[in-house]
Amino acid sequence: MPVALVTGGGRGIGAACATTLAEAGYDVGIGYAGDRDAAEATADRVAAVGRRAHVHAADVADPDAAAGLVAAVEDELGPLDALVLNAGITRDGPALRMDPGDWDAVIRTNLSGAFYTARPALRGMLKRRSGAVVALSSVVAMTGNPGQVNYAASKAGLLGMVKTLAREVAARGVRVNAVAPGYIATDMTAVIPEQYREKILAATPLGRLGEPVDVAAAVRFLCSDDAAFMTGTVLSVDGGLAIGA
Ligand code: NDP
Repeated sequence: MPVALVTGGGRGIGAACATTLAEAGYDVGIGYAGDRDAAEATADRVAAVGRRAHVHAADVADPDAAAGLVAAVEDELGPLDALVLNAGITRDGPALRMDPGDWDAVIRTNLSGAFYTARPALRGMLKRRSGAVVALSSVVAMTGNPGQVNYAASKAGLLGMVKTLAREVAARGVRVNAVAPGYIATDMTAVIPEQYREKILAATPLGRLGEPVDVAAAVRFLCSDDAAFMTGTVLSVDGGLAIGA
């Protein structure tokens, strides 16, 4: 059976990726930071469709912990066929008043954490000459977003990382792509004030927030052989927000 690892797989988009990949036949490693109950609940949903799950706590911003996550999942489930770099946080605020700690936390988790997780996973994929990596970027990587200078920089950085890794590993049969969601209904966006939410909906041609499964479908596609000729690309899943902006 193919094996996938989803960082931040306990909640939101990561949880949807884990269950969608399980439905597609993957055994799934579920990384989480602190919410073990959520990670276990996702593991139960993976088991409910007949696939194996392994839950492992790891702060991806710590390079040793990220490598330990990859090793633990490969030990338990087998070599990785797919890696979903989903773990992410926000620490919003106006750029000129942003605390350096908030800048660092977001860059370290969203960007460095993805790199620290991708590298050990890619080592095995390169040896096996097969594998797919998908990183969760964001529409704000392309548009910017006032109040999210750290987050937008981390998500734009991911695109540079994805495109570079894609070129470095393509000759050995490994693909690296990104998904750029618009606004998706998760814990992360539940804190958006109503007034701003209305503006987002008005700017979204399809007229709703996305659901985590909308993003998971794109992730599953990029992991699959249906995307065998796609690497270094960015798939927008944003209800048309980017064209509507
Ligand atoms: P949530 O806030 O719902 O979930 C975030 C997940 O990341 C949680 O599972 C959390 O683990 C995990 N996580 C956070 N920090 C760390 C860390 N240091 N180490 C390991 N895991 C960590 O987020 P979403 O589901 O909304 O977002 C998922 C991804 O998609 C993020 O990268 C986000 O930036 C991106 N995205 C989201 C959009 C949206 O509108 N929601 C839009 C565009 C991109 P735990 O459960 O243990 O806390």
